[in-house]
Amino acid sequence: MTEQDPLAAVRARIDAAARLAHRQDAATLIAVSKTRTAEEIEPLLAAGQRVFGENRVQEAQGKWPALRERYSGVELHLVGQLQSNKAADAVALFDAIHSVDRPSLVDALGAACANAGKHPACFVQVNIGDEPQKGGCGVADLPALLERARAAELTIAGLMAVPPADLEPAPYFALLAKLARDHGLGGLSMGMSNDLETAVMLGATHVRVGTALFGARA
Ligand SMILES: *Cc1c(COP(=O)(O)O)cnc(C)c1O
Repeated sequence: MTEQDPLAAVRARIDAAARLAHRQDAATLIAVSKTRTAEEIEPLLAAGQRVFGENRVQEAQGKWPALRERYSGVELHLVGQLQSNKAADAVALFDAIHSVDRPSLVDALGAACANAGKHPACFVQVNIGDEPQKGGCGVADLPALLERARAAELTIAGLMAVPPADLEPAPYFALLAKLARDHGLGGLSMGMSNDLETAVMLGATHVRVGTALFGARA
């Protein structure tokens, strides 16, 4: 590992945290490539990274079909808010959707999955700090939303959250982990550039990292 190699550095951070937590299983690194050009993304692909995250369907549609022709085995995750009218496009393009957060979207995704015969891994996004301005379903609304998602035959992989900015994230990660356990869900999408060690130590199965890989966004 060299300091000039951000991918190796991020992987080392994940591995070090997993070792500290005596974890045997690895957390998946999702390289969040939103706002980045194909030219910025290619070095990571060339270095072997295959799991990427985008936050806009249209932007991803513009970049990824061509990249997928050149690099096999790419796994694409949607980590941004999804409008119900884009559900079919999202199901067609993405292998995982981390922003399932309301009944209307559950229904739209259920119909889109059935129609396409394709079942991306779905994470239910939880508004873990109950912040009024933030996406995600309220903690109190989670049981009903999960029930609806199961009825819609979505493939529920786990839970996702972004903790409140400027607060210690550990209690929020721990709460998300508890909610996942309570509902028998194995997947935990939590942790970003600044807090991925804490997330991995608290059981994250997927960390979503942009800035630490690509530099600050414009
Ligand atoms: C942009 C984004 C990330 C990556 O954040 P960084 O701080 O750049 O690592 C992770 N998760 C979501 C939902 C995002 O929108």
